[in-house]
Amino acid sequence: MTNQVHRNGSTKPHFILVPLMAQGHMIPMVDMARLLADRGATVSFITTPVNAARIESVVRGVEASGLPIRFVELEFPCAEAGLPEGCENVDLIITRPELQLRFYEGLSLLRKPLESYLRGIELGGAAVMISDSCHYWTMDVAREFSLRRMIFHGPSCFYIVCSLIISQQNIYEDGLGTSVVPGLPHRIEVTRAQAPGSWFYWPGWMHLKAKVDESESAADGVVINTFLELEPEYVDLYRGAMGEKAVLPIGTLSLYNKDAEIKSTRGNKAAVDERRLAGWLDAKEPGSVLYVSFGSLVLQGPSQLIEIGRALESSGRPFVWVLKGAEASRPELVEWMSEGGFAERTEGRGLVIAGWAPQVAILSHPSVGGFVTHCGWNSTLEAITASVPMVTWPHIADQFLNEKLVVEVLRVGVSLGVKVPTFYIEGEDVVGVERERVEKAVLSLMDGGEEGERRRERAREYGVKARMAMEEGGSSYENITTLTQILGHKVE
Ligand code: UDP
Repeated sequence: MTNQVHRNGSTKPHFILVPLMAQGHMIPMVDMARLLADRGATVSFITTPVNAARIESVVRGVEASGLPIRFVELEFPCAEAGLPEGCENVDLIITRPELQLRFYEGLSLLRKPLESYLRGIELGGAAVMISDSCHYWTMDVAREFSLRRMIFHGPSCFYIVCSLIISQQNIYEDGLGTSVVPGLPHRIEVTRAQAPGSWFYWPGWMHLKAKVDESESAADGVVINTFLELEPEYVDLYRGAMGEKAVLPIGTLSLYNKDAEIKSTRGNKAAVDERRLAGWLDAKEPGSVLYVSFGSLVLQGPSQLIEIGRALESSGRPFVWVLKGAEASRPELVEWMSEGGFAERTEGRGLVIAGWAPQVAILSHPSVGGFVTHCGWNSTLEAITASVPMVTWPHIADQFLNEKLVVEVLRVGVSLGVKVPTFYIEGEDVVGVERERVEKAVLSLMDGGEEGERRRERAREYGVKARMAMEEGGSSYENITTLTQILGHKVE
């Protein structure tokens, strides 16, 4: 740390958590809030009304348990940001490219309400802000209130290190072909189409990227939802790049959810009855069920969904398939499932969840033996933590690099071989990956002979390491201890 570290045994640390309003960023920070409170801190969790409503049952659970967390609902002035009323989460604008830049630019409108909240509370000498890397504007708030500030990074150290090298060394100069990322312990090839994957690299977004970078260099350190034993070389490389700043892997944060009910309401209210789901899974053979879900943002058109359905049907495997509400109601899909006979043919073998699924509860069920994933970082880490190998199907953003970590570095996944990003736009209906490719990858993951067994063994080992990291004395547990000791106002 560049600034003096204050340790004040008599003052409880107070964390002000400012998550990006996107499920993949909010969910781990809700876990972080509860974990820090459990470890003796007071927490202010900054949110907005639409997002607070999604975590209502967590809020009630926190109140009942007496954990010292205040959920602070700030007004997000959508109209001022040029957004329709209520567009307070990335998943509400994901099919509207024209609104996305406005959303990210509009985040800084939370500055005034956050400042007035901070003015109204007793901050004391032991307050630390942890803000999502996208909330670049929190740099000024932290300065104004002389707060220490840590950045929360959504993805892995592997992704961050690759992106840093790619952008610093401008390795795509040579054109559109494949480039090897230099200076890594593994040979990682990327194409311009796949990486770096952050929105901030899009044309027209670079002004935001510059602010995000400035805010990161001004921060006191970084917390990441990963664990040292998963990617030790990349944690080291990132630490090297950050110099004296603290780099603290504190995951897997989802492991904090021990209670079955909390697991089921993590992120949103589940669209399936938990007892029915648990009973259905209990009746299946251990490791036999394939779980298929693409996170909170990735959407697919009806023709692509029908291809996936056909692959699941012909694979002969039991499956749980999660469709987003908007996908499940498309007339072509509804018709194919009912009149087309899919529902009848897969009855008892397949369970379709239309809406929010209790993902961590599903992945941690012993019957689940494989996961077809879009490689969002949380989903990836949750699968690794539950020892579940993956079929990787990246769509956008960091997902292509996450796939490389899973398939090439950790070797716990089978790639579908997708080469270019796909981004669903309302009304479009294209098939990017045909049924045969999905089926082949699924069978290779679930059967896979000797190589499949070795893959499962590696996945088992990473799951054990993940759990050990969070136990008392484990690497992430100790990093959380360090985090709770990074206290005090900045010494200018
Ligand atoms: N998630 C869930 N149920 C769903 C969809 C997603 O619980 O039906 C959770 C999932 O467990 C993960 C998060 O939402 O914690 C998604 O984050 P990820 O980084 O995997 O992908 P993103 O949604 O950001 O693309």
